[in-house]
Amino acid sequence: MAEELVLFEQRGPISLITMNRPEAANAQNKAITYAIDEAFKRFAADDDARVAILRGAGKHFSAGHDISGDATLQDHYPPVTLWWDHIGKEHAEYIMAYEEEAYLGMARRWRELPKPTIAAVHGACIGGALALAWACDLIVASEDAFFSDPVVTMGCPGIEFFCHPWVMGPRRAKEFLYTGERMTAERAYEVGMINRVVPREELEDAAMALAERIAERPRFGLAMTKKAVNVAEDEMGMREGIEHAFALHQLTHAHNTNVCGYPVLISRPEEMKAKNA
Ligand code: ZN
Repeated sequence: MAEELVLFEQRGPISLITMNRPEAANAQNKAITYAIDEAFKRFAADDDARVAILRGAGKHFSAGHDISGDATLQDHYPPVTLWWDHIGKEHAEYIMAYEEEAYLGMARRWRELPKPTIAAVHGACIGGALALAWACDLIVASEDAFFSDPVVTMGCPGIEFFCHPWVMGPRRAKEFLYTGERMTAERAYEVGMINRVVPREELEDAAMALAERIAERPRFGLAMTKKAVNVAEDEMGMREGIEHAFALHQLTHAHNTNVCGYPVLISRPEEMKAKNA
């Protein structure tokens, strides 16, 4: 199951990690989330794997968290961040336990992986997909790529891995969040959120060329460089800011559940399914 949902290919020193759920625009259900984690673990453990590229199969990088009724949500996977399993818990504890593990904890874990990672983004990069891209060190996007966080519409202050103010600046972050509007690849480049914009047909080559160039550098030097920059980013308040936003995020899930019986202000999944039938 895990191998089908995420493809792992080793090309010389480069690990190509491809989310492979194109029929659902690579939406992150529980199964694919753990499969991505497995792939990063495999990359981290292999001394010959120097740089990883994370990308999506099909038309889009990823449509974000699967909120259309994740059939894998009750499947058991041993927690990787040591937060306890959400299965069998109730209300706020249920939601928080899952999001601490799968949305916040895993994104942090991938960001802190001591080897360089590159997100190659095309098509949609929406909501929780931002966490995948932001957890990577570099982002190369094709001209058709767009980024958006529509979570405020659902009554929550943005996605759980709340990097917005640090990756695009606070004022742009407010606009991005308040409006939920799409940010084009060109605009994302202008605001410094991504490293390169290339034509769609050149995305793979551009990401590979960048990865190969980085792979020539000494492993330990790269790891220490990554740590130094990540610590600098955290010193700019990102780690604490994310932690604070995450608490507010959980507050809104609890509030929304009181208001409409569901953690986000949308129809319940079964109603959505009926609507789409
Ligand atoms: Zn949430």
